[in-house]
Amino acid sequence: MSLSTEITLPNGIKYEQPQGLFINNEFVKGVDGKTFETINPHDEKPITFVHEATEKDVDIAVKAARDALSGPWKHIATTERGRLLTKLADLFEENSDILAGIESLDNGKATQFAKGDVQASAYCLRYYGGWADKIVGQTIDTDSQSFNYTIHEPVGVCGQIIPWNFPLLMWAWKIGPAVATGNTVVLKTAEQTPLSALYAATLIKKAGFPPGVVNIISGFGRVAGAAISSHMDIDKVAFTGSTLVGRQVLQAAAKSNLKKVTLELGGKSPNIVFPDADLENAISWINFGIYFNHGQCCCAGSRVLVHEAIYDKFLEAFKARAQQNKVGNPFEQGTYQGPQISQLQFDRIMGYIDEGKKAGAKVVTGGERQGDQGYYIKPTIFADVTNDMKIVQEEIFGPVCTVQKFKDEEEAIKLANDTSYGLAAGIHTNDLNTSIRVSNALKAGTVWVNQYNTIHHQTPFGGYKESGLGRELGSYALDNYTQIKTVRIHLGDALF
Ligand code: NAD
Repeated sequence: MSLSTEITLPNGIKYEQPQGLFINNEFVKGVDGKTFETINPHDEKPITFVHEATEKDVDIAVKAARDALSGPWKHIATTERGRLLTKLADLFEENSDILAGIESLDNGKATQFAKGDVQASAYCLRYYGGWADKIVGQTIDTDSQSFNYTIHEPVGVCGQIIPWNFPLLMWAWKIGPAVATGNTVVLKTAEQTPLSALYAATLIKKAGFPPGVVNIISGFGRVAGAAISSHMDIDKVAFTGSTLVGRQVLQAAAKSNLKKVTLELGGKSPNIVFPDADLENAISWINFGIYFNHGQCCCAGSRVLVHEAIYDKFLEAFKARAQQNKVGNPFEQGTYQGPQISQLQFDRIMGYIDEGKKAGAKVVTGGERQGDQGYYIKPTIFADVTNDMKIVQEEIFGPVCTVQKFKDEEEAIKLANDTSYGLAAGIHTNDLNTSIRVSNALKAGTVWVNQYNTIHHQTPFGGYKESGLGRELGSYALDNYTQIKTVRIHLGDALF
């Protein structure tokens, strides 16, 4: 079985696609010689195969990461660590057409948004490159007999498990802060989207990272993912994906070596429209909030709450806006929404749509597949929903949102907080006091006002309640990847 293959993207770009596991800066086959195919969600056909990591390969990758930690990586100057990350960011930008093309092919996201993901990944890597030589401890004055200081040390070998909805961006969110703080990494991609991460692995080597610092493996959750979360020689695991699997990762960490855990999980985020909002602006953001990335965003604004005074007007205008989104081939000019990631996700989403119809919710637009090939689903709006319906409470992870009425601020807050999730929320109002009051009352890790989905690498992101543990991005993410050591030096005479 080959370790790389030439692929011609639908936009005519030819490139060499690595297929192996990236361990110690080399592409290798898995110990068991297994491979699996990755499917193009646009035509449902295999693109190519990649080598599959099993437990033994996870062990090999962890050893590579462990050796690197005590090898040259330990002694590398922090400024040099930062330079490697900024070089990697430059390489992302130089290779953006290939990286974005792979992302559109393997994930199905429209090229305009895939390019945005590559740029956002480069910004994230460069941002953490800037942090590498600014990680500082404190000196703490307690009394004249003591000198106290803290050191922020790397946690060690970090296992990172990422999902398929933002394959490159999650790669960058995970690797950036881990490497900036001096850790080494074993990152497992989602089985649906292994390709862009492997191409990005070639850039790790090109940037000049020592072997073993970043290892990238393709494989399945129940095999390679579980091997990471229960590994006795991994010091920390960072996971992004479903709440169901997040619980399993936490349990595996607890049952093995109590590795540190951060979780970025699902959501059912509310987008609240007050009667004084600029309606056109609100609708643009709400449309982007749910249909961006085909609704496959953990922070998708999937529950729209609208004040009763503007409800009918809003619904009419929102329907018209959603119907304008061009759904189709991700490589075509102007495409807004591509196919869902897989047959499984397509079936799950269609299942929720049927469930909503059966429960008596009204389909305002969409509610059906588009075409007869590819995992395409029309942008869907449900109205006349009640809060106990499954489509209002459960994460659908597709282009489906519900619209509910509220009569006053108190009811809006109550509805907004009434799910087990707490990842994000949106508020649309021109009243500063309303925006601050409601932001304070919402149980959500991020609140966007008069915008939505505008995640920024400098600002933290993460969930309240069952949406996760810890924060990614910004300076806050550095805390996930450092151990704090306190040193107390006795300066005076012997105590006794
Ligand atoms: P998932 O949680 O099963 O997969 C995410 C990652 O976890 C993948 O890399 C997968 O291989 C790995 N994984 C799966 N089982 C594992 C295990 N037992 N131990 C360790 N790792 C494991 O997500 P999915 O099945 O691809 O999607 C299902 C649902 O998850 C979606 O409908 C959505 O609700 C949610 N999801 C959320 C996000 C997010 O960004 N928060 C991303 C993708 C999916």
